[in-house]
Amino acid sequence: MQDNDVYDLVGIGFGPSNLALAIAVEEHNARAAATDRVRAIFLEKQDDFGWHRGMLFEDATMQVSFLKDLVTMRNPASDFSFVSYLHAHDRLADFINYKSMYPLRVEFHDYMAWAATRVRDQVRYGHTVTDVRPAAGGEMLDVITDRGHFRARNISVAVGLESSLPPEIQPAERVWHNLDILHRAATFDVAAPRRFIVVGAGQSAAESVSFLHERYPTAEVCSVFFRYGYSPADDSNFANGIFDPQAVDLYFDAPEDVKRMLFDYHRNTNYSVVDGELITDLYRRAYREKVLGRTRLRMLNASRITDLAPRPDGVTAEVEHLPTGDRTSLEADAIVYATGYRPVDVSRLLGAAAPLCHRDEENLLRVRRDYRIVTDDSLRAGIYLQGGTEHAHGITSTLLSAVAVRSGEIVASIAAGERGPVPETLPRPLAMIGDR
Ligand SMILES: Cc1cc2nc3c(=O)[nH]c(=O)nc-3n(C[C@H](O)[C@H](O)[C@H](O)COP(=O)(O)OP(=O)(O)OC[C@H]3O[C@@H](n4cnc5c(N)ncnc54)[C@H](O)[C@@H]3O)c2cc1C
Repeated sequence: MQDNDVYDLVGIGFGPSNLALAIAVEEHNARAAATDRVRAIFLEKQDDFGWHRGMLFEDATMQVSFLKDLVTMRNPASDFSFVSYLHAHDRLADFINYKSMYPLRVEFHDYMAWAATRVRDQVRYGHTVTDVRPAAGGEMLDVITDRGHFRARNISVAVGLESSLPPEIQPAERVWHNLDILHRAATFDVAAPRRFIVVGAGQSAAESVSFLHERYPTAEVCSVFFRYGYSPADDSNFANGIFDPQAVDLYFDAPEDVKRMLFDYHRNTNYSVVDGELITDLYRRAYREKVLGRTRLRMLNASRITDLAPRPDGVTAEVEHLPTGDRTSLEADAIVYATGYRPVDVSRLLGAAAPLCHRDEENLLRVRRDYRIVTDDSLRAGIYLQGGTEHAHGITSTLLSAVAVRSGEIVASIAAGERGPVPETLPRPLAMIGDR
């Protein structure tokens, strides 16, 4: 046993979702009577706070307004806001003059790391959760880690997304998923590589192309994708409302066919689309190279990789141009698959507790509006899910837009300690998550 305490809440994973929850717990405890306080601990496998470190390109910006930080949508007066962070770092006036709602990704990472440091006493880093077991006749759950276990009345599972490669592709020395690109590319001297291939047409693919093209001035960068061209993300005013807290209420209660309709209409706010400014920037680079007669940025559109031969020092890829059937053989130093992400399979993590979690006829977890998984009555401890509830709560499920308000809802549910009614609406299946 790691310690003999029983926690009201054990969080699994400490990315933005559970970080926002830790802050919501802290703010709840600050105003709650001693008997209503929530004792919480969060377990994170990394040795320190880190948010997609392999994609922290220096020039990448957030795709969510800074007002959708860890707290503001729940508590605009919180001193854990992005504005408080800027103030603490003497950059508030500079950010105002920057005149954008979208901070740099590295800056937002620094903001979250700053917030994580302030709740550090609630976190155990370097703890990988391997299993969750019912305990005390179903009143509790034991969360098992590689360094001992923790007993909880409730758990919040927020283990995020993992890389998704085409089924026939195995990662290798020179076959990467974009999530690792900064770490993997760092092994190359700036002038060494001759060619990279990037597969995919979403935001991560376009960012990877941009990064490799800029970082390696002698390398050709081939962007291979099915589409004719990158498609812009719909970030227009009315469509953006799909990320509002009220949209979660509407979505949750909507009939299944309406959920499907709304999701299909608005998937281009997030999936397989690219920020418009980045598309323009890449187009202008390609055009400039055409004018100068030194083409380094190549768009192999309407194309697919038909065969890949990896070697320790590179790859050979066969590319088929779909309209003509023409084939091109490309030798490259590395190939980057920017082919999307999928939620980590929580059943694997829930181990012995997983069979007690209810699923619908599509085998999706049944989740209440308060993000608590519907379980057998024999399990009275609560399992809350952050991320991976797109089928029930809509498109914000895996995004930052929801984290502040969702955290408040989970704390309120835990503090109330009630089981509440099971939702009527059954979720619909969603295919593997694409790129964003
Ligand atoms: C490159 C990139 C950029 C993005 N940019 C945006 C954006 O601008 N706006 C937006 O809304 N969304 C964005 N997203 C979506 C992204 O899902 C969210 O930003 C966010 O990461 C969700 O937070 P999370 O805490 O749920 O998951 P994660 O950030 O994935 O955190 C999960 C944590 O759980 C830990 N963990 C996993 N398994 C275990 C285990 N067994 N034991 C212990 N710890 C474990 C992981 O180490 C990780 O720290 C982006 C995604 C990517 C990949």
